[in-house]
Parts: sequence; structure tokens; C-alpha cells
Amino acid sequence: MKIAIYPGSFDPLTNGHLDILKRATKLFDKVIVLIAINPNKKTTFSLEERIIMLKEVTKDMPNVEIDSTSGLTIDYAIKKGAVALVRGLRAVSDFEYEFQIASTNEFLDDKIEMVFLMARTINTFVSSSMIKELNSQGADIHKLVPSIVLEYLNKSRK
Ligand code: ADP
Repeated sequence: MKIAIYPGSFDPLTNGHLDILKRATKLFDKVIVLIAINPNKKTTFSLEERIIMLKEVTKDMPNVEIDSTSGLTIDYAIKKGAVALVRGLRAVSDFEYEFQIASTNEFLDDKIEMVFLMARTINTFVSSSMIKELNSQGADIHKLVPSIVLEYLNKSRK
């Protein structure tokens, strides 16, 4: 069974994340969406809220699991016997950061492959921070996030 890990902050999940996830499920037998907990990074949504949103959105995806770790993603991947880490690439600006992460992971373990999926054109400008900014300014973002995420965003605005 080929397991892949899709790590990220998912603060919150967007349609861009969801698209990468759906495509990854066609390539692997199981994909674990891994919320990487970074105590130095202040998040808008708690870990519990991010898990609730991810679980709701993926409830009909039988080969997807949701988990979190405060350790290194690569250690988690080794523990789970994963063959790959999946990441999404939007623009050249993502490349430098992703290349650095990929090189670090290769240094830590060179057997787990990094797999990069290119963002769909419609999602190239979509990021969690852009979504939050647009929503805080009252823009209509329902085409960019799952409906449960919109609910949580609107709750956090009140
Ligand atoms: P991180 O803080 O680790 O970058 P994110 O939740 O922002 O976590 O992103 C997780 C992964 O999803 C990253 O590889 C990122 O490039 C990718 N991603 C984020 N938004 C999109 C999008 N709109 N289209 C495709 N990939 C995306």
C-alpha cells in the first residue's frame, strides 16, 4: 500500500488545497493530510477547528486520513511507512521555499520522495492568507473555499 503525506498549515483549508488532495488520492492508495503544528506560528484557527473542517470536507474520501504532528514531518512519514510527501506549487515564488524544504527532507531521509503537483490555473492566486484578507474585507469568497470553511471564517469575523 502506497501512502503519501500531504503536510501543511491548512489555516484554513482552501479549494487549492482540496484540489491537490483530490489529485493526490488518484496517485496513492492512502493520503494522510498532516497538520504540521508550529508553536512559533500564530494561527487563525485552532488545531481542533482545522481538524473539524478537514474531516468534514474529506468525509466522502475513503482513502484520506487527517492527523497532526508537532514533530518533523519526515519523522511522521517514516513512522507511517509513507513513500512520498505531496506539496502544491502555485508560482515561482513557491519554488524557492519548496526547494529548500525538499533539500532539507532529502538530507534527513533520501528514500521518501517529494511529489509536487502544479496548482490548477483557477487556484494559482488562492492562499489561506489571501482568503482571510478577502473575507475580512467582506469580499465574496464562496467559490474559493468549501462551505464549512466559509462558515468558520464568518464566525471568526464576528
Ligand atoms: P505551509 O504553511 O506548509 O506552506 P499551507 O497550508 O499554506 O502550508 O500549504 C500546504 C501546501 O499546499 C503547500 O505545498 C502549498 O504550496 C500548497 N498550496 C496552498 N495553496 C494552494 C493552491 N491554491 N493551489 C495549490 N497548492 C496550494
